[in-house]
Amino acid sequence: MAISTDQAFQRCLSPSCGATYDIGEARTACGECDGLLDVAYDWDRLPVPSSLKEFEKKWSRRNEPLCKSGVWRFHDLLPFAPPEKIVTIGEGQTLLAPSDGVAQYIGLNAGQLFLQYEGMNPSGSFKDNGMTAAFTHAHTIGAKRAACASTGNTSASLALYCGVSKLMQAVIFIGSGKISYGKLSQALDYGALTLQISGDFDDAMHRVRQVSEQLGIYLVNSVNPFRLEGQKTIMYRVLESLDWEVPDWIVVPGGNLGNSSAFGKAFMELKELGLIDRVPRLAIINAAGADTLYQLFEVNGQRWNGGDIDRAATTDYYEELDKNHSRASTIASAIEINRPVNYQKCLRALDVCDGVVWEVTDQQILDAKAQVGAHGLGCEPASAASVAGAKLLCSEGVIAPSERVVCILTGHQLKDPTATVAYHTTDQDEFNRILGSRGVQRAEFANRAVAVANDLEEIVRAIQLNS
Ligand SMILES: *Cc1c(COP(=O)(O)O)cnc(C)c1O
Ligand SMILES: [Zn+2]
Repeated sequence: MAISTDQAFQRCLSPSCGATYDIGEARTACGECDGLLDVAYDWDRLPVPSSLKEFEKKWSRRNEPLCKSGVWRFHDLLPFAPPEKIVTIGEGQTLLAPSDGVAQYIGLNAGQLFLQYEGMNPSGSFKDNGMTAAFTHAHTIGAKRAACASTGNTSASLALYCGVSKLMQAVIFIGSGKISYGKLSQALDYGALTLQISGDFDDAMHRVRQVSEQLGIYLVNSVNPFRLEGQKTIMYRVLESLDWEVPDWIVVPGGNLGNSSAFGKAFMELKELGLIDRVPRLAIINAAGADTLYQLFEVNGQRWNGGDIDRAATTDYYEELDKNHSRASTIASAIEINRPVNYQKCLRALDVCDGVVWEVTDQQILDAKAQVGAHGLGCEPASAASVAGAKLLCSEGVIAPSERVVCILTGHQLKDPTATVAYHTTDQDEFNRILGSRGVQRAEFANRAVAVANDLEEIVRAIQLNS
């Protein structure tokens, strides 16, 4: 497939601006209005299958890397790169797992809950879906270095693609302190140049933009519109696993809002292409300590409004945050973000999918995480926000028990073992030190290790007592 520049291009998100840019440009914002960019297609001039079922046929050709990849199997729906430039490491071999145990916890009928486990990706989070796409774009335009600021998973993913392909050097910016060891260890192990900036994520983000511009380094943060193209495929795989039946709800944690924005774009395009006849509703779950979207959308009532967004209201909100020295704070480090870069795109997704936004506490997140762990799979804290959110939405009557719900488990259980061990620990000091400071008071589903003397009789008794 040869792609001409008018078949795939970049376009300003704002309909009233609508400026377009060549697919070969590396941009992080519209040059006219500073808005976000979309990757856009002229579908009439591209070969799009007449039915989603067509994609299943690719599986019989899975010895070909582009058919095996859970992202590039859907290349026809993200046709911005020529096949020979695609960089894939077999991402997207993920799993949609039914879970009646977690369904019961949430308050859903048996058979109605599915967990989309994106922790199965090569670097252990959904970020690989987007990274293969951004990396492919970077490679297509000849980049030699790629950079990102990250709370951990984006950097792990970038470092992996650089390490495996050797096509680029990874330059990673992290804040001091707030990164889980699982994620930091990945960046180091994959050989990325890792810069630990004194400051938090927002500070690191600010610097990486400056440095990328000055040194001409390709930026893969989620302002990058190509990443979102890859992340659309999470929804294609959900539909595929449900035999192309659209579920009632998709529930996803909200951080920088790249995922939710990508999901909205995926459904918007499938509808436009006539490949589905209805879209699911979208529920985006913020952590209560990082709830900008919740505040702006649910409390202040801000809406997409056909692209005519009241930008001043957002600016006012951020000024208020600054004035109060308000910093994001949650145990769910992957969504510990107060200035979500994809906010405007996310408003479009909420519009397309008749969405809702809720917030959950760290207590609710960790209890939900323990339930996900106890019923298989497991996930990192941020991922469990989706399950905690679904439970809340059920108890509020927004989601009915008979509805079919898919919760996205965004990251692997082993990403953040510190939180998991602290939750299950018997050591009250350890619990207080790590979780108490986050307002977590009890561990309802703790599975405590049983302390037992190194003595055969005592060990036997301990097993009998506890089984
Ligand atoms: C990045 C990340 C999120 C947040 O996703 P956004 O697209 O930034 O909203 C949630 N969970 C995990 C595990 C992540 O790595
Ligand atoms: Zn613009």
